[in-house]
Amino acid sequence: MNDRQSKPANEARNSMRILALYLYLMAALPPTVLAQESMSVFDIHFAVITKNPAAHERATVEQLRKEVDILNRFFVDEDRRPVVKFRFKSAALYDELKDSSCDFVRLGDTRKNYDSDAWADMFNACDDPRVRDPAAINFFIYDSHSREKGFGDATCHGKRNSNRPYLLIDWERLDHTDQGPEEHEMGHAFGLDHVFVDGAGINDSTNIMASRHKNGSGGRRNIGFNKDQVRIILEYAGKIQKKLRNTK
Ligand SMILES: [Zn+2]
Repeated sequence: MNDRQSKPANEARNSMRILALYLYLMAALPPTVLAQESMSVFDIHFAVITKNPAAHERATVEQLRKEVDILNRFFVDEDRRPVVKFRFKSAALYDELKDSSCDFVRLGDTRKNYDSDAWADMFNACDDPRVRDPAAINFFIYDSHSREKGFGDATCHGKRNSNRPYLLIDWERLDHTDQGPEEHEMGHAFGLDHVFVDGAGINDSTNIMASRHKNGSGGRRNIGFNKDQVRIILEYAGKIQKKLRNTK
């Protein structure tokens, strides 16, 4: 074989091989790995606002860190790929914030009915960083109350609040209990409404945002966000990030 002629040919072949290997690796990597660098990351501040000792036993800092892992695992699309990511920032336990002058803390054990707008006003009026971190998504652990169930009630709420989102999770629902409370409420926090699954039984697979309203229980809420929901989440993710950055 003639050396002079084969050398450029070899080089060309080698670069083709490298290109093929590169393309192969890109195709083999899951899309999440490729998208990770551009994926939005949201800080979470936790605040325990109920005086219930059973809640304090459950809502340890270790558990609150685990809540972030739960969100990172279950706030996903239909192919189980994360839509945005979450990061533990800080936590204030009840003893650390019980002396706060923010009325919002008193909602942790209120017997009054939930009032979405009135509670948001109290949240927005709170200037105590132990209770409300203006640069993070705030995740409250509280004790829900209803006339029928008393404090045995375990209703949770998530609110986008003009792109300053917060969650109210009943302490009994921590650690990803039935119907995925963390990702469902975080869905509301990112602007999603309920979807109605007519006649869904409690063991049926349903979308994360399925509601128990109308006919049906809401089901397991174990199917990730659909394309339309992902589009809405990503649209608000940009707005939320901008707002959290600018409201120090
Ligand atoms: Zn809901």
